[in-house]
Amino acid sequence: MIAFKDLVDIIGGSVLQEPATQSVISYLATDSRKLVLPARTLFFAIRGTRHNGHHYLPDLYAQGVRNFVVEVALPESVLSRYPEANILLVNSAVDALQLLARVHRQGFVLPVVAITGSNGKTIVKEWAAQLLAPDFNIVRSPKSYNSQIGVPLSVWSIAPQHTLGIFEAGISQPHEMTRLQAILQPTIGIFTNIGTAHDEGFSSQNEKIAEKWQLFKDCPVVIYNRAHEALDTFIQKYKSDNQYVIAWKVTREGTRYRVEGLGGEAWELNLPFSDAASVENVLHCVALMFCLGKTQAETQSRLLALKPVSMRLELKQGINQCYLIDDSYNNDLAGLTLALDLLNQQNQAVKSRKTVILSDVPQAGIEPTILYKHIAQLLTEKNVRRVIGIGKEIKVLRQFFEGETAFFDSTDSFLEAIKPQQYFHNELILIKGARSFEFERIGQWLQEKVHGTRLEINLDALVNNLNFYKSKLKPETKLMVMVKAFAYGSGSYEVANLLQFHRVDYLTVAYTDEGVDLRRNGITLPIMVMNPAPETFDKLLSFNLEPEVYSFRILQKLLEHLDGQPAKIHLKIDTGMRRLGFEEKEIAALVQVLNENKNLTVGSAFSHLAGSDEAKHNDFSHQQIATYTRSVEALEQGLGYKFIRHIVNSPGIIRFPEAHFDMVRLGIGLYGVEVNGLEQAHLQTVGTLKTVISQIKHVPTGESIGYGRRGLAQHPDTTLATIAIGYADGFSRGFSRGVGSVKVNGQLAPVVGNICMDMCMIDITGIAAQEGDEVVIFDDTLTISDLAAKINTIPYEIITNISARVKRVFYTE
Ligand SMILES: *Cc1c(COP(=O)(O)O)cnc(C)c1O
Repeated sequence: MIAFKDLVDIIGGSVLQEPATQSVISYLATDSRKLVLPARTLFFAIRGTRHNGHHYLPDLYAQGVRNFVVEVALPESVLSRYPEANILLVNSAVDALQLLARVHRQGFVLPVVAITGSNGKTIVKEWAAQLLAPDFNIVRSPKSYNSQIGVPLSVWSIAPQHTLGIFEAGISQPHEMTRLQAILQPTIGIFTNIGTAHDEGFSSQNEKIAEKWQLFKDCPVVIYNRAHEALDTFIQKYKSDNQYVIAWKVTREGTRYRVEGLGGEAWELNLPFSDAASVENVLHCVALMFCLGKTQAETQSRLLALKPVSMRLELKQGINQCYLIDDSYNNDLAGLTLALDLLNQQNQAVKSRKTVILSDVPQAGIEPTILYKHIAQLLTEKNVRRVIGIGKEIKVLRQFFEGETAFFDSTDSFLEAIKPQQYFHNELILIKGARSFEFERIGQWLQEKVHGTRLEINLDALVNNLNFYKSKLKPETKLMVMVKAFAYGSGSYEVANLLQFHRVDYLTVAYTDEGVDLRRNGITLPIMVMNPAPETFDKLLSFNLEPEVYSFRILQKLLEHLDGQPAKIHLKIDTGMRRLGFEEKEIAALVQVLNENKNLTVGSAFSHLAGSDEAKHNDFSHQQIATYTRSVEALEQGLGYKFIRHIVNSPGIIRFPEAHFDMVRLGIGLYGVEVNGLEQAHLQTVGTLKTVISQIKHVPTGESIGYGRRGLAQHPDTTLATIAIGYADGFSRGFSRGVGSVKVNGQLAPVVGNICMDMCMIDITGIAAQEGDEVVIFDDTLTISDLAAKINTIPYEIITNISARVKRVFYTE
């Protein structure tokens, strides 16, 4: 904490304005969207290449921020708009922020662990914090705040009660690390590893190592893995005599790991993870435990309780049609603010009724009455309908919380008092608790039980892909997204909700029921139905869905049903696909019927290309586009008004920019597959299909495996795993007998014998695996397109075949 009047002594600059009101500064901010307690915040207005913090001053002032550091000498006319604000002018707001953090750090004597390296920084930080929680009061960087701005913001949160700091540091340019070193002043360094990739700004791997080493040059203890040769050579050469270097080395003996380099000792340990990256990350933590005086026995027992770090916020399906956002990652006020923003983004979403289950919020330096009053206000602003508070502190201050509330002393008393099946229905629940409250128990209890097989949908990847296709369109071109067939297997209304949030223009489904489902789940975008059966016209109209009309028969049925009522329709024109649609020669007759029935309005008229993804069909595609153009011109002439024109699908968007007309129809591209193979690098994988190992067996050479005895044990002592996915889940029988392979702990394992309805057998000889381990059917490296090629089909069929019983799990990074 600091007062504005003392700021100039620390960071210099000149005071532009300092009205009498003096407030205490507890928080530093550089992003107007991430304010915690505005009245106690000092905002640094930074001018970057894309953003200029000065643009947000009016908004920040309106939100109650009263202390600012700026880089621009604001004229009197501007200052007068912020009569109560204290404003300090400096040359560089980033320098000022870093200087303030440096001075703050100097005020504390505590061990500070700094972590750098190419990979694993956040995981090592989180695991170290988990393992050392019983011994220390730990302050650590939130998420991966490791940049020139993130590090000072993290260091600012060191407070008197802390006994250990754990922070990450990352750089992208030469000369950045020296600055981070001065802010962190670490006493223990962990150099996780070094990648070979040539990063922006560095000419060689050694230059990168040398730059990162700046963080540790005065550090009394440094930890690294001796297996990284370049790193080992460098450190052995440049370490100083008074530095204690722990260069650990691991060898595996069966299921045990032997770690050397911990003083004179070698520790033998069982680790809870077996993939190479996790082993390295966990052993950095082991070395840290060693240097903080923990014994092997103590370390081993804590390792077995280590939980995987979930860096992502998952949107999980809960009991009784609830959705859960399970986030116990950051338990302070700043973390709560972030999680509530995510909750609010689901607004249009899935469920409108919002519940928050919240533990005591450990927050130093703010009186509980001010803290909880602020939290209560935040919850009201974010439209939270029900608050369940767990913990003694929050319970005492219950009077601040409005609306429907319930309070409990502990997680145990909550779990005992509540019957979840009766208590939670149809709502979006945010679970947010400090570690000691073990809220993961609440998460497990509310989560719908998933049979091991699940399709994980990366919502960030969907947004990336959406933005990629948008970048291919002129600003005025509209975007229709195909969410037929359960959004290509990815989950209709979760995907539709995201598309609504990102403001696409139209959605399309195949059948009326699919559209009704979207409406029932709060989707208000216009929706076209491609194949509306006449029996469903009633539903179609009452749910405000717009039918495709492709023949005179359907047109006649619709007119009879409407009996003069108005409706908007979409006309399908067959220009060569030979599937549904009016032909060019029928346009005149169509115009006549429409002109006689003015209650029908044509919202759009469209056609579909039969071979837009293949250059060999270019002539045919151009012919289709020409036929389409003639047809819609004739239609428009005959009707006397304009309507939306559209013809291209995902591959067509890329290959026929001249045929975008007024709108394009995006399908498979959104889900991460670029069927032309031209722009795949710009798309991200959306779906990852996973299952688990149910059982492991050892089978002697030559024995038969599975139905029809079509599999054979190939190796002496073949190791066989039975996995919980079969053709009824959408893992085609075509993958039987070695045609398909799946991934077990990163290694490919072929299918053995015939795939059964609910499971199949794979050969895992030589692969380290245990019953219950995860198995990947497809992901970003074993792709849907690879799978399709193996069984002679197309990616569309692979993703839409994943059956409804496979749970969909949605997440954002
Ligand atoms: C499914 C469909 C699309 C989308 O095709 P993709 O190849 O998945 O982009 C476009 N138009 C019509 C008429 C469709 O049926």
